[in-house]
Amino acid sequence: MHPPLPALIDPFARPITYLRVSVTDRCDFRCVYCMAEHMQFLPKADLLTLEELDRLCTAFIGLGVRKLRITGGEPLVRRGIMGFFRNVARHLGQGLDELTLTTNGSQLARHAAELAEIGVRRVNVSLDTLDPDKFAAITRWGRLPQVLDGVRAATAAGLRVKINAVALKGVNDAELFDLVRWCGDEGHDLTFIEVMPMGEMGEENRLDQYWPLSDLRAQLAERFTLIDLAERTGGPARYVKLAETGQKIGFITPLTHNFCESCNRVRVTCTGELFMCLGQEDNADLRAPLRASPDDAALEQTIRAAIARKPKGHDFDYSRQKVDGQMTRHMSHTGG
Ligand code: SAM
Ligand code: SF4
Repeated sequence: MHPPLPALIDPFARPITYLRVSVTDRCDFRCVYCMAEHMQFLPKADLLTLEELDRLCTAFIGLGVRKLRITGGEPLVRRGIMGFFRNVARHLGQGLDELTLTTNGSQLARHAAELAEIGVRRVNVSLDTLDPDKFAAITRWGRLPQVLDGVRAATAAGLRVKINAVALKGVNDAELFDLVRWCGDEGHDLTFIEVMPMGEMGEENRLDQYWPLSDLRAQLAERFTLIDLAERTGGPARYVKLAETGQKIGFITPLTHNFCESCNRVRVTCTGELFMCLGQEDNADLRAPLRASPDDAALEQTIRAAIARKPKGHDFDYSRQKVDGQMTRHMSHTGG
């Protein structure tokens, strides 16, 4: 059943068909590029309830969203989250093509089978290193074996796993080929992400960690034949195939502008702020219309008005040896 309402189209004629929803700002890890060790989390009352999140997702699907990605913080640490997944999954095949999540994998061993049973087909698992000590250092509170168990459980449940690795100079640059080989052996796609200037970290210096993917790609090309794939997701990812192994490798380079023109996505935070662009501060409060009335008319009106001012692109820029376009909010808030 296709939604009867006109789809959301932004001022640059981009149809908005992909929604990423952060369901919590909390996490059981403290990745150095994402959170300070002693994060101040939001008061519970500020967070959308699971019922409100369901209403919100349902409204977006009614407005033409076909792909939903649940993220956080760590989505699987939110209490009752599996009930939320089960509810939202009712839209699969009824307007929604895909329900998926991005997770640190710590709780996957417990939930993978149920996620698969509900209708989730793919998960993105964030994993920057296969070295247990480095893993503990990057995530501060995470332990590698737990995540590897989660990845194995997901695969065993029939979920396709994509590994997302943030490219970090001096941290996982020496492991590039180990990560590629492991993903090849295990049958996981692999995507590298450039570290982004999100949130004030204090002790961390983003320019020190910044490992440009152009450099990573050049290193790969020394050992493999890279075949550019035409595949576009509407997001900042570009893909290549390694001719020698057949593996797909993605590069997420949010600091370049080459993807904005095909941007098909918006993000909602766990407090109901709708961000039309990951790299811009403009947002719309969806919590107020959600709480003001059980009727969705005002909510839909607010969504449409916000999409009507979706900006053309973002302003991140490392090129002048300082972090321009720095965002004050954390990735765990907007949902990476
Ligand atoms: N907790 C889940 C996870 O780690 O997959 C979901 C939320 S996390 C914020 C989503 C993604 O954002 C992760 O892949 C993480 O590595 C990435 N991320 C966080 N902070 C980042 C930053 N400053 N630059 C680039 N990627 C970042
Ligand atoms: Fe948690 Fe994901 Fe942020 Fe790491 S990247 S601290 S796992 S939200």
